[in-house]
Amino acid sequence: MSKMTRIPCPKCGGRAFDISKIPKERIDVALKCPRCHNIVTIECSSDFKIKRTTSCK
Ligand SMILES: [Zn+2]
Repeated sequence: MSKMTRIPCPKCGGRAFDISKIPKERIDVALKCPRCHNIVTIECSSDFKIKRTTSCK
């Protein structure tokens, strides 16, 4: 079984996306939330720290 981590949207708290593997290098994932339609930027790092930031437009 693959473990999926649910990444919540920092804006509305709904599910933004699921990630199965946290990358070794820090990555920024920018996406449009399917629920609130805000552009959110989510930082994923190897320490399993997920830092969430938003940019409102
Ligand atoms: Zn949202």
